[in-house]
Amino acid sequence: MSESLLTDKTGNSSERNCEPKKSPESIDMEAAEFKDFAKSMIDYIAEYLENIRDRRVLPEVKPGYLRPLIPDNAPLKPDSWEDVMSDIERVIMPGVTHWHSPKFHAYFPTANSYPAIVADMLSGAIACIGFTWIASPACTELEVVMLDWLGKMLDLPAEFLACSGGKGGGVIQGTASEATLVALLGAKAKKILEVKEQHPNWDENTIISKLVAYSSAQAHSSVERAGLLGGIKLKSIPADKNNRLRGPALEEAIKKDIDDGLIPFYVVVTLGTTNSCAFDNLEECGPIGNKYNVWIHVDAAYAGSAFICPEYRHLMKGIETADSFNFNPHKWMLVNFDCSAMWLKDPSWLVNAFNVDPLYLKHDMQGSAPDYRHWQIPLGRRFRALKIWFVLRLYGVENIQAHIRRHCEFAKYFEKLCVEDSRFEIVGEVNMGLVCFRLKGPNERNEVLLKRINGRGNVHMVPSKIGDVYFLRMAICSRFTQTSDIEYTWKEISDAANEILKN
Ligand code: PLP
Repeated sequence: MSESLLTDKTGNSSERNCEPKKSPESIDMEAAEFKDFAKSMIDYIAEYLENIRDRRVLPEVKPGYLRPLIPDNAPLKPDSWEDVMSDIERVIMPGVTHWHSPKFHAYFPTANSYPAIVADMLSGAIACIGFTWIASPACTELEVVMLDWLGKMLDLPAEFLACSGGKGGGVIQGTASEATLVALLGAKAKKILEVKEQHPNWDENTIISKLVAYSSAQAHSSVERAGLLGGIKLKSIPADKNNRLRGPALEEAIKKDIDDGLIPFYVVVTLGTTNSCAFDNLEECGPIGNKYNVWIHVDAAYAGSAFICPEYRHLMKGIETADSFNFNPHKWMLVNFDCSAMWLKDPSWLVNAFNVDPLYLKHDMQGSAPDYRHWQIPLGRRFRALKIWFVLRLYGVENIQAHIRRHCEFAKYFEKLCVEDSRFEIVGEVNMGLVCFRLKGPNERNEVLLKRINGRGNVHMVPSKIGDVYFLRMAICSRFTQTSDIEYTWKEISDAANEILKN
């Protein structure tokens, strides 16, 4: 709102009198030095990342810490860049959990690298919104090719790749959660159409009320959420003793539901569960999905990156039976958030399900290249393929493979330290860069242990529970991690255990 409208209560404002407004020629006239400030931020970022190990990984602030540190209102006149810079350390950093510290072992990793950061800067500078091909052809076309590059790196079946000349292709979603939901909506649209053909007098609501989807009880919470958002029943099937969804359990559930008059339409198979990095048996579940004409979606959010290493590909056996496959380069492949790669054998189910076509989004080249707005939930999309391109070119596949293998080796080393200490036990198998472990004895002892570890603030991890067993998850997360960091983390855990067991 202009100042005159803010202050003039007489109704004689300059706007109402249609007097020409005096605007500066450019809002950047007084701020030409922004360019220099931008350059100094690069130095700050490098300094932050290179010395991240020295920061306390978990902040000590309490909720509400930030508001008193900054003014109640936005400044009317510009602040100086120096003030903004100094407030990063004063206001922001005390409240940052340092996800890229080698002392951070919570959740799963989130990726980070200079090539990806720089590519994101370029994406920010181009700042196009690539919802259609014509909205920025490079944005769409690089994405198509990068998803082919990535798909070949994982050795996905050709049917998923655009370069195969078939129907298939890839897309970058923001997150694995979106990919699960998008695939569910595509599967739902497909099944509704099929059922309508068989039962022309059934209305859509009747069909939807019969639809049922499945996942392992160990699937990520985003799968349950996709069921809620998609407005369908989602059943969770108990995993076997190794925490894997198995074919016979899936088939039994599908058969029972068919007998009960329900319509199975969608299964999520997880490769690398969040709780314990277990791998559902895709080789068994995939053919069952195909047999009952049920869409198979593979959620390999974390572990999918490891399939660039041939020695891990046996864990995705059966991939040719899947309808859609998703993994997060933004977790473990050095590409900063957000970048979730998804492939579909037949994207037309999404394109048809999500197609609304206002005149302002039409263009002459429609149909000759993907209009990615039809493959996702939002309309707008950033130029995310740039960061895949930069990372793959500047590291090369071999170095990314080495990064994955190093993390897996660190996890094995941590497992060894754990096994050598008779007070501890490993929970399940150590797969990839995650170790699930606990102090032998009651769950409460392990809850106290985790509180102690996180309370010291030197390393950070989160717990999980499978059945009645509470355990700690130690994920290798940082690309800066070295053997000495694993030893440091082990010492923190061991010291905390000493304190607890002494009492
Ligand atoms: N699926 C699995 C197996 C995960 O481990 C996670 C997160 O860790 C997700 C889905 C959710 O990922 P996103 O944050 O990309 O939605």
